[in-house]
Amino acid sequence: MKTKYTLKYLRKVEEGFIPCPFCGKKPTIVFSDDEGNWKDQDSEEYLQDAWSGLCFSICHENEDCPIEPPEIDMGRVYSGCYDTPEEAVEDWNEHLKKHGN
Ligand SMILES: [Zn+2]
Repeated sequence: MKTKYTLKYLRKVEEGFIPCPFCGKKPTIVFSDDEGNWKDQDSEEYLQDAWSGLCFSICHENEDCPIEPPEIDMGRVYSGCYDTPEEAVEDWNEHLKKHGN
């Protein structure tokens, strides 16, 4: 699956995250294939030719934050998997709006 995604694009989409109400840090976006195999986050190779599917997840690292997700290979990542980076940002923002800050 050829995609339009670049690392620069992901960094741009990340700017849309509302900062965490607990620690003030913005989350970041990480990606894996459909089977949950994490890819090299510094390389665009898989991102642009996602032959085994593409799944975007939200990474939030701050050991002092009460909503920090569990640790996996890629750091501290929530279990949600999104088809597009925009959906990940939307979901995080919606969630925070619903639960107040
Ligand atoms: Zn936080």
